[in-house]
Amino acid sequence: MNPEIATVLPPYAQPPLNPGRIAELLRKYDRQGPRYTSYPPATQFANVEVSRYLDALADGKCQDPLSLYIHIPFCSSPCYYCGCNKIVTRNRVQVRHYLEHLRREMALLRLQSSLHQRPVTQLHLGGGTPTFLDDAELTELVHLTAHYFRLVQDENRDYAIEIDPRTVDRSRIELIRGLGFNRISLGIQDFDPQVQKAINRIQPVDMIERLVGDIRARAFGSLNFDLIYGLPKQTLKSVEDTLREVIRLAPDRISYYNYAHLPERFAAQRAIHTEDLPPPGVKLEMLTLVIRTLTDAGYLYLGMDHFVKMDDPLAIAQANGTLCRNFQGYSIHKAEDLVGLGVSSISNIHGMFVQNAAQLNTYYQALDENRLPVVKGRESTQEDVLRRDIIQQLSCYRFLDIARIEREYGIDFEEHFNLLLPELEQLERDGLLSLATPGKLFVSAEGSLLLRNICMVFDEYLRQDTPSKPTFSRVI
Ligand code: SF4
Repeated sequence: MNPEIATVLPPYAQPPLNPGRIAELLRKYDRQGPRYTSYPPATQFANVEVSRYLDALADGKCQDPLSLYIHIPFCSSPCYYCGCNKIVTRNRVQVRHYLEHLRREMALLRLQSSLHQRPVTQLHLGGGTPTFLDDAELTELVHLTAHYFRLVQDENRDYAIEIDPRTVDRSRIELIRGLGFNRISLGIQDFDPQVQKAINRIQPVDMIERLVGDIRARAFGSLNFDLIYGLPKQTLKSVEDTLREVIRLAPDRISYYNYAHLPERFAAQRAIHTEDLPPPGVKLEMLTLVIRTLTDAGYLYLGMDHFVKMDDPLAIAQANGTLCRNFQGYSIHKAEDLVGLGVSSISNIHGMFVQNAAQLNTYYQALDENRLPVVKGRESTQEDVLRRDIIQQLSCYRFLDIARIEREYGIDFEEHFNLLLPELEQLERDGLLSLATPGKLFVSAEGSLLLRNICMVFDEYLRQDTPSKPTFSRVI
């Protein structure tokens, strides 16, 4: 974002603590919607020419920073709440086969583009379970990546890995740090033993405490906890107890997601008994409890499920206008272009989105035939670019500089978004935003809890009547 925006940003009001008012608003606005880690959302991807992707890659300059995402799809046991693209297996031979194909994908990209010359300022290993790989395999993967891409050493790089706490010990943490990772995200979900049993993910709090100690001792740049509310067997009391442990362990960043129960879409969720799920009213109270407790404990509510310590680089980036949102959630704006490697990964090169095959067989077959495993994607239209800019700005800064949008895109905002004005006015009447200052849209403290709903107003695709509407998670 440009410095101009930073000068007009409102002071970030923390979300309000009036539970009655929040409940009323959340009840009114609870509906399905995308999380806007991309716009258009991946549900809009369709057939795409790989050559168009290669053309987009060719447009990048050698010095342009690059973000890399590598997907490791394997997990050793299923967590029942899971909606990720993963393969549950104990068969370690699969890893060898997968690493070999990742190598082929990297080699093909190196052969067909100049990506390898660009400094990788951000690297993210996600899954599945990246730590399903043993020490030798993890080392091999990082060496492969360093062979085919330009990894950088400077401490400002963001090299992150998602860790399943059940798969690592102190020596593995040391190895991960030694391999160059400086950010860790731990999948916690909930500390209550009953809840852990109901989701098939047992990881006692003392195990996490030891792990946090090991991570702190290795001076990682940041530690993130992933947590979920709305899980089976969760109660207000169990969430309160979990929050107490979270605050005691003091991660730098916290992602607190809403559990989306979509058993018709995710087979693993069929193991969850619907009667064990907290009813919507209780879920609502959980959300307000989470926000109140974490903000009281000194965390900044960044927006859309994320909390950070006040001195965290993401908090600073929000204040100085360098925050962005991508497939991994909030991030500091370090690289425009993202290349995703591995099954189901998504790349974004100058607004040209492509996605790899989601099935291992299709992914392997393409690479065996020396083809990039891209199966779908989308080239952004000028309208997509405009709306993406608006959605990014709202989700990162809870503010929209309408005057800048008009200048940059050569539009008259009221005329261009004429059809949306009644919705924006309704949101204003409900106190979620203000249009009172000419040329500016400010999201209120209440509105910051419903950022997804405000972004949804600008989502052209949600309005389209398609025969099979995609299913998104609910806002609450
Ligand atoms: S939640 Fe993570 S570890 Fe559990 S099954 Fe899903 S991808 Fe695997």
